[in-house]
Amino acid sequence: MKQAKLIKNFGRNLRFKPKYFYSPNSESELLDILQLHKDEKIRVVGSLHSWSNLVKTDEVLIDMRYFNRIEVFAQNGETRVRVGAGCQIKHLLKALNKQRLTLPSLALITEQTIAGITATGTHGSGKHSLSHYIESLRVACFKGDESTAQVVEVNDGVELQAARCSLGCLGVITEITLPCIPQYFVQEKATFCQKIDEILILEKKAPLQQFYLMPHSWLFLAHERVVSSECRRRGLAGVYRVYWFLVIDLGMHLTLKLFASVLRSKKLIHFFFRQVAPSLISPRWVVTDRSDHALVMEHELFKHLEIELFVTRSKVGEAASFVADILKLSDDASHKLSPSTFEKLQKAELIDSLEDIKGKFTHHYPICFRRILPDDTLISMASGGSEDYYSISFITYVEPRDDFYALATFLANNMFELFDARIHWGKWFPQTGEQVNQLYPEIVEFRNVCHQFDPNGVFRNVFIEEKLGLK
Ligand SMILES: Cc1cc2nc3c(=O)[nH]c(=O)nc-3n(C[C@H](O)[C@H](O)[C@H](O)COP(=O)(O)OP(=O)(O)OC[C@H]3O[C@@H](n4cnc5c(N)ncnc54)[C@H](O)[C@@H]3O)c2cc1C
Repeated sequence: MKQAKLIKNFGRNLRFKPKYFYSPNSESELLDILQLHKDEKIRVVGSLHSWSNLVKTDEVLIDMRYFNRIEVFAQNGETRVRVGAGCQIKHLLKALNKQRLTLPSLALITEQTIAGITATGTHGSGKHSLSHYIESLRVACFKGDESTAQVVEVNDGVELQAARCSLGCLGVITEITLPCIPQYFVQEKATFCQKIDEILILEKKAPLQQFYLMPHSWLFLAHERVVSSECRRRGLAGVYRVYWFLVIDLGMHLTLKLFASVLRSKKLIHFFFRQVAPSLISPRWVVTDRSDHALVMEHELFKHLEIELFVTRSKVGEAASFVADILKLSDDASHKLSPSTFEKLQKAELIDSLEDIKGKFTHHYPICFRRILPDDTLISMASGGSEDYYSISFITYVEPRDDFYALATFLANNMFELFDARIHWGKWFPQTGEQVNQLYPEIVEFRNVCHQFDPNGVFRNVFIEEKLGLK
């Protein structure tokens, strides 16, 4: 056991001091810890890149950083990787790339652990979340005998669906096996569009595309991305990476922090998005780069906070118009809502809630849209159904965050009512247990599996109990 210390997450919105903090080295050491604390509350932590209260506990916190073994093997003609739960994605990608392999799906950053990233259904664009691809897991839990901790292998049926995206509720994952795919290169091109329909059409030729709604100019910018037939860098990819790092990862973020957080100037934020931002991106620069360079950004350089909402493809057009209208009102109390937004809010009896946000917050970051294919999990945000999902993300660099929290709560509640929007489990999470219950048809199955693996509710905290209805 290590000295209990103050735990802080990436966004610094979460700070707590558990009574006990462990970093076990082996499954047998882990089982001893679980056995010792079987009557208390235990949570596991990855690299603390979630903004929700998932990892918070006053009692026992387990850090799995020493479970970082990587073993690539062939089985039935396919290549797989068996990876320790605490291995960070960046180390895994490096090891896989040495064998010209990579993961089937990537997120925007690679700081997270494999268990952390999959426990929350983390995703990129144009593929399933990484959780979906998991073939088996080893989980330390109390399955079958509430008084004896043991490690079980999960590789089939509803248990596998639950364990792929488990929010840490089944027990402590020690190892994950998933397929790897041959390393590939991605061709990327930037395209500006006036309307979301134009941008959705581009997806046919660029299936890995992600796109942004630029606040205050209200233009869409697509990163059209397609798997290249060539396995080499093209279009001055090295120069592009340096340009992107200096101009976007550093320059844009520092400028926005200065305008929004230090100077708090609405006018400068408007100026940036209307005059400066469009000139930073050249639609003529077509670049081909290795997947783990092309699809990943240095998004973790500056502390921020994010909420991300998920809607199905058939609702994304309307959801985007609604978001733009609401952000305009939030920026300017005299903005007149479109008849369509007004009607929607009136019909759902939500008009009064507009008072909480009118003129109170100027959004200052591109709103990112990503497409996620439906998952074979029970409760990931893209679980269930046959339609693709779109995530819509809102980021703030301003502190204190109260005005952003009010806007994010408004969006979460209203978009739940109007578009059945779900919220990323790892991001700021204002939805209620009642809303979660309605949004996830398989939640009953998930609770059943939780009861089998953890009959006494050892692996739960207040967040899990409230949001998942697991008492
Ligand atoms: C800058 C930034 C960029 C991001 N980009 C993306 C993105 O592109 N796409 C996206 O979908 N999300 C993104 N996220 C969200 C992030 O991927 C998730 O919140 C992810 O869960 C964080 O992983 P972690 O290793 O830090 O785990 P933590 O945040 O520490 O924990 C997350 C969950 O995993 C559980 N867990 C961790 N280890 C284990 C284990 N061994 N056994 C059982 N449960 C475990 C924890 O209990 C907790 O419930 C981003 C977050 C940040 C801060």
